[in-house]
Amino acid sequence: AGTFGKSKAAVVQEGQIKLTFADVAGCDEAKQDLQEVVDFLRHPERYHLLGARIPHGVLLVGPPGSGKTLLAKAVAGEARVPYFSISGSDFVEMFVGVGAARVRDLFEQARKSAPCIVFIDEIDAVGRKRGVNLQGGNDEREQTLNQLLVEMDGFSSGQEVIILAATNRPDVLDAALLRPGRFDRQVVVDAPDVRGREMILRIHARKKPLDPSVDLGVMARRTAGMVGADLENLLNEAALGAARAGRSKIVMRDVEEARDRVLMGPERRSLVVREADRRVTAYHEVGHALAAQLLPHAGRVAKLTVVPRGRAAGYMMPDDDDRLHVTRPALEDMIAVALAGRAAEEVVFGEITTGAQNDFQQATGLARRMVTEWGMSPRIGKVALAEGGAGFLGGGPQLAPMSEATAHAVDEEVRAIIEAAYARAVALVQTHLPRVHQVVEVLLRRETLSGEEFSTLLAGGILDEPPPPAPLPPPGLPA
Ligand code: ADP
Ligand code: MG
Ligand code: ZN
Repeated sequence: AGTFGKSKAAVVQEGQIKLTFADVAGCDEAKQDLQEVVDFLRHPERYHLLGARIPHGVLLVGPPGSGKTLLAKAVAGEARVPYFSISGSDFVEMFVGVGAARVRDLFEQARKSAPCIVFIDEIDAVGRKRGVNLQGGNDEREQTLNQLLVEMDGFSSGQEVIILAATNRPDVLDAALLRPGRFDRQVVVDAPDVRGREMILRIHARKKPLDPSVDLGVMARRTAGMVGADLENLLNEAALGAARAGRSKIVMRDVEEARDRVLMGPERRSLVVREADRRVTAYHEVGHALAAQLLPHAGRVAKLTVVPRGRAAGYMMPDDDDRLHVTRPALEDMIAVALAGRAAEEVVFGEITTGAQNDFQQATGLARRMVTEWGMSPRIGKVALAEGGAGFLGGGPQLAPMSEATAHAVDEEVRAIIEAAYARAVALVQTHLPRVHQVVEVLLRRETLSGEEFSTLLAGGILDEPPPPAPLPPPGLPA
């Protein structure tokens, strides 16, 4: 590569990264997943002895400001290995060939420094699906992406280079990037819940003089929807406010005013979810969870939350396996679970929001396949009306040509299945309404409930108050 290609990756040498996992709060699951990467970088021989194939590429997925870059650095800090970083957006404006050369240089350098971490920020800027651009492909981007793929495939064992990449748009990535041996692992770095926000505030308050009037637990509750970057910004604003007022310590009022200022910022207006919206979301998710837990053939509840994620205001994660043979009663229960969020909203508020669109698509999709593919409608019978089915989890197949009368009958059957399931969901919510109200209050306070906690509440139990977060080490000392 010529001088043009010389990698401008910012290289941080061994020992220079002082960050550790203790500097990252509110994403314990991500840290747990990444601990394996740290162990591997520290003791590669243990893994080689066992013949374990270690992931080369790990994709960090989460909203902007949730701490992906911070985590990547902390992995290098924990493992005490060199850290190379480059951003996908750096490649976008380059001359043809330069991006690819730069990737080549970067990896050459990384191989020489192994074990090490390579961090590619904003990988979606280079890693978008190829060939979808109608204006003609972006040659530069494609060459860069191809070079990246070549490099990732070119590692031999004994070269411990782990590539971490960050994106908030995993859906736009080229499938080639996600193949085994490339970025075949994803680590989700979610927006923090209330306890996570308190821990993050504590981390960033370490080096700031706080008056005893400042209650970070209260502030955590008033910042639903904020990510780590917002919270850091908030405390910084508070410090500025205190300085402007000539105070030597930050008082609670500084923090409260800072919160309002951060919220009023241009992009942040919709950030903190309105209280009324959170309430609707909580009923919706508890509706899903109630149905999942109580219907005999549905999966249990693994987790439910009102912390927004992607475009969803909240979610209920069922704890089921990918069953391949699904019976009619099981499918009917799954449909009822999908509709139970909306059912709870209707029972409690008597009105309809737009939040359930995805649920309806899911429910209708299942009902339609019961009728057209799986022969579960006595009226339509056991005819396969759909062609090219792709298994239970595959995309929807094309409908075979059918008469108008048949099409009409199919629609009626689908509608009947949906309506019966919806009626069951409504009845379930009505029967358990007092309990639903109770669970919603706890969910609003805690923002996230595990399946176990939900079961306890549903059975009429109460949860222990969570212990206060552990005290932090004093500032400046790497843990
Ligand atoms: P991302 O890469 O996901 O956009 P960053 O890692 O760049 O987010 O976060 C920006 C800043 O916000 C960090 O440098 C840190 O100060 C703060 N921050 C973000 N997330 C966290 C967290 N989970 N814990 C502590 N600080 C955080
Ligand atoms: Mg970042
Ligand atoms: Zn829903």
